[in-house]
Amino acid sequence: MGDRRHFIETASAALGADPGVLDVRLSCLHETEPEGGPEGQGPFLNAAARVETTYDAVSLFDLMQRIEGDLGRERPQPWSPRTIDLDLLLFDDDLIDIPKLTVPHPRMHERKFVLVSLAEIAGDVIHPVMGQTINGLLNSLSC
Ligand code: AMP
Repeated sequence: MGDRRHFIETASAALGADPGVLDVRLSCLHETEPEGGPEGQGPFLNAAARVETTYDAVSLFDLMQRIEGDLGRERPQPWSPRTIDLDLLLFDDDLIDIPKLTVPHPRMHERKFVLVSLAEIAGDVIHPVMGQTINGLLNSLSC
């Protein structure tokens, strides 16, 4: 909702401004039609970011959730339009399954809008559960 590019760029800048974050590299922004959710919602704008950090995965995720909160995210209902949604897709080869956080993100490998953005900045990275590169996962979705 709102100025979608502004929200993504502000979230990226907020990540980069945190003392535990050393570098942020943002992909291009990709507009995609919503998958599921209520009728009549507009297209989404998606991007992926590669973050170099001194944090562990949970601390990085806590930071991401604080940034979501700061950007005024409102969720009238699940899957509905939102100002910003930050997902942690991969964290090195870590496998995490705790109530608040699953890494790799459990649905990332089947979502083209995720893989298209991620491939720009991490195409050769191997998904630690699927055992394929991000480019490979994207190619197998495309056909
Ligand atoms: P959503 O905002 O729809 O992506 O869902 C957010 C919920 O998913 C929160 O309750 C998170 O704690 C949980 N969650 C679990 N794993 C992840 C992840 N890898 N990235 C983002 N949210 C996650």
